[in-house]
Amino acid sequence: MSKHADSTTVIAPGIPVHSEEIFRRLVDSVQDYAIFILDTQGYIASWNPGAERFKGYKAHEIIGKHFSTFYTQQDKDKDKPGWELKVASEVGRFEDEGWRVRKDGTRFWASVVITRIKDDDGKIIGFGKITRDLSERRVAEQRYRLLIEGVTDYAIYSLDAEGNITSWNSGAERIKGYLAEEIIGRHFSTFYVPEDVSAKVPARVLQRAREEGHYEGEGWRVRKDGTRFWSSVVVTPLKDETGQITGFSKITRDITERKKLIDEIQRHSQELELRIAEREQTNAELESFSYSVSHDLRAPLRAIEGFSEALREEYSHVLDDNAKDYLQQVITAAARMNQLVQDLLNYSRLSRTDLALQEISARAVIDRVVHDLTPAQQECLTVEAFHDVRVIGHEPTLAQVLMNLISNGLKFHAPEVECRVTVSVSRPQPGWVRFSVQDNGIGIAPEHQQRIFQVFERLHGIEEYPGTGVGLAIVKRATERMDGRYGVQSARNQGSTFWVELRAAQESRSK
Ligand code: ADP
Repeated sequence: MSKHADSTTVIAPGIPVHSEEIFRRLVDSVQDYAIFILDTQGYIASWNPGAERFKGYKAHEIIGKHFSTFYTQQDKDKDKPGWELKVASEVGRFEDEGWRVRKDGTRFWASVVITRIKDDDGKIIGFGKITRDLSERRVAEQRYRLLIEGVTDYAIYSLDAEGNITSWNSGAERIKGYLAEEIIGRHFSTFYVPEDVSAKVPARVLQRAREEGHYEGEGWRVRKDGTRFWSSVVVTPLKDETGQITGFSKITRDITERKKLIDEIQRHSQELELRIAEREQTNAELESFSYSVSHDLRAPLRAIEGFSEALREEYSHVLDDNAKDYLQQVITAAARMNQLVQDLLNYSRLSRTDLALQEISARAVIDRVVHDLTPAQQECLTVEAFHDVRVIGHEPTLAQVLMNLISNGLKFHAPEVECRVTVSVSRPQPGWVRFSVQDNGIGIAPEHQQRIFQVFERLHGIEEYPGTGVGLAIVKRATERMDGRYGVQSARNQGSTFWVELRAAQESRSK
């Protein structure tokens, strides 16, 4: 191989470097590393383009100068360069990272390797020096470090492969209460509650992170002052270039407040569920109680009615007017009680029995109701013409609902007013059929319109308008059980329109 000197690689005279052309070309082509040779005293003996690029010196400016030129004054004062050569001479190699100075005085963060060079007799004849500019990486790392250190809402720290803490940010300090110098080097199980430590939870966490590449969990942790907090934790393994796990990063958040809130909500909803269950139980018991009471009341009632009738028929000749009057009152009261019991039974039966919902004809139901009215009642009633439509419901139940509404319409009017009740069927909304019962009666003030649908809610005395106060409660419950809706439009002295709506049956099947 030719030994003629390359134009850019300059080798100082007197230094016996056995440089081959290929080797020189290689060194010359390297831009990212400063590769040069020092003599035994540390004087620069060669220079490559990489060195020129990031140290700023041309070959002729620097060859023959001492390599301490590149060191900061501080390092020079400590004779760091001399010490580095000493280490390289003794050990064979010296590696370091640190600040170095360019020709223009600016600094750069360098990774440095100095290697001892020996001749065939084992005598040191100089040193090879390879320097890399890591400034950009260092800036990025520093920015990253600052970023992490600045985070206060999260404890971000790292562990070595065994779980000992190797870094600590301000969030960790804030949340856990330890300063970096107090905790770095200690095992992360320090933060676990004793129960978890004895159950070997910390080891399992690292194991899971190792096996699954990630661990996420929540649990109680202990602060430096011994208080506990509920934490949300993410653990991620850190790997080197060969894929070997060298440690873990750990991010912990204090979510005690959220946990408290969630616990509170859960407690409330459990309480609520319990209360609802209790109430349902009580309601069911009450219903069954009132059902059996009503049911059992009928037999003695029938006896009262029967014997009073017998008394009136067989003994009226021995009773004076006063006694007859009393007897009449017994008979009336018994009849009223009979009605009350009957209504209550109807009402509670509505929730006790299953209603098999079917397609039913609106016209058939209305015809049936009209048929059951007395001729006098029929006189007052008008059914508006309509195209029949089929609805989803339970025929006897819908008939009962309409009957209750019509009888109320016939009943609640001023004595001097001739009553008029109009029944109509309409489609207020696609999918729904509305049955309306309109009267010209006394009307209902808005503030009473809700409560009249409750059992026994009446707005008048029994002498004024007879009734039990159960009719509209039946309307409400029956409509609900047929998946329908109900309502009233009314004002005092303006008449009322009560309505119920049921779902229309499929159009294709309606006639
Ligand atoms: P009842 O008719 O046996 O009294 P309801 O439950 O059917 O019981 O009605 C409850 C109350 O609502 C009635 O007592 C009355 O005060 C009022 N009400 C119901 N329907 C009408 C109506 N069409 N016009 C005026 N008030 C009515």
